[in-house]
Amino acid sequence: MSNPSRVLVLNSGSSSLKFAVIDPYSGTLDLSGIGDALGQDEPTVSWKCDGRTQSSGLPAEAQHSDVIRFLVDEILSKCADLQEHLIAVGHRVVHGGEKFSHSVLIDDAVLNTIRDCIALAPLHNPAAVQGIEAAFNAFPDLPQVAVFDTAFHQSMPRHAYIYALPYELYRDHGLRRYGMHGTSHRFVTERAAELLNLPVNEVNIISAHLGNGASITAIRDGHSVDTSMGLTPLEGLVMGTRSGDVDPGLIMHLASRLDYRVKEINELLNRKSGLLGISELSSDCRALEQAAAEGHDGAQLALDIFCYRLAKYIASYHGVLSQVDALVFTGGIGENSSLVREKVLAHLDGLGYELDMARNLRARFGEEGPISTERSAVTLVIPTNEEWVIARDTASLAPPNRPNGDPSSRE
Ligand code: AMP
Repeated sequence: MSNPSRVLVLNSGSSSLKFAVIDPYSGTLDLSGIGDALGQDEPTVSWKCDGRTQSSGLPAEAQHSDVIRFLVDEILSKCADLQEHLIAVGHRVVHGGEKFSHSVLIDDAVLNTIRDCIALAPLHNPAAVQGIEAAFNAFPDLPQVAVFDTAFHQSMPRHAYIYALPYELYRDHGLRRYGMHGTSHRFVTERAAELLNLPVNEVNIISAHLGNGASITAIRDGHSVDTSMGLTPLEGLVMGTRSGDVDPGLIMHLASRLDYRVKEINELLNRKSGLLGISELSSDCRALEQAAAEGHDGAQLALDIFCYRLAKYIASYHGVLSQVDALVFTGGIGENSSLVREKVLAHLDGLGYELDMARNLRARFGEEGPISTERSAVTLVIPTNEEWVIARDTASLAPPNRPNGDPSSRE
């Protein structure tokens, strides 16, 4: 290993824990894996190291702490001696509320503040707290850093983040738009600046992160000024199983006319809607593309709505930003689906977008670069890398009292 410093990146979900060991300076991935079905009957852990994929069962109802114990006992020691090269642990935390506009070194006060944010992200933040507590137990000597999905959007102006509701709901309960996917939008912003040869604090882009979850962000001078997700990840674009924007009156209609309960409405809007709900077939873009090509009307309609709604957001963000240096596609769909990119840009010719068909078809499976013609408004595909951002932030915040822990000492 030329640079032996490594960061363990943990991404705790409600029933899963993703882990990765990354060189924070080059982004090289030494290990990646996931503990899945946690708290359920048959949890598993699978991981990839040295080009080999392995998996194992875990005891019934195993928790995040059990995955981390397995990681220490069975994986790290046997995988290129990674454990001795770890300088810090970086955690993805979904919600940092208004408290965190940057990544932070975790101490008791920070952990308590993350706990306070559970009210804003009841599905996500409890898992992050569990992961952090388990990592402190397993690695008592390693500094731990929290990297927040919401942090990048803390630069949004008030007129973009306040809902048109009684102001006291914001003042007394923090109900406002926060935005998510900030780590991905930030990565894309920094990379777009490099590709466009602009200083990052001068770059203006529209970043469309299109995966199972999807959001779009308007970035002025390197800072988020508006984004499509709100208090929760439900607002905004059509997603795999989420509705995105709907008329709030629909919720009252569901409750009062169709006898839906709150839990059922939550399930409907978060898990049964979006591409899955429209197509009555699948939430997976690839499956829908194939079905649409074979004449499945629902799949075609789902893709049409997904692209149309996205194009409307892009057009509105042209109004938000006076200058747009590039439109960027990222995430599983944005990086791979030439069809979605083509359909979206077809709505936007009035704004000067023109697709280069050959470039568009080439841009997939991790390829980066422009997909527009020379005379078009610039359109780029940039594969996102949230784990690398987490590893970089973590290394830069880790106190330099461990060997190689000081990023300033790197070559
Ligand atoms: P993510 O959540 O970022 O992993 O993205 C998952 C989404 O990307 C799913 O809807 C996949 O169907 C979609 N996706 C991945 N590869 C392709 C591909 N080659 N063509 C179309 N969609 C893809």
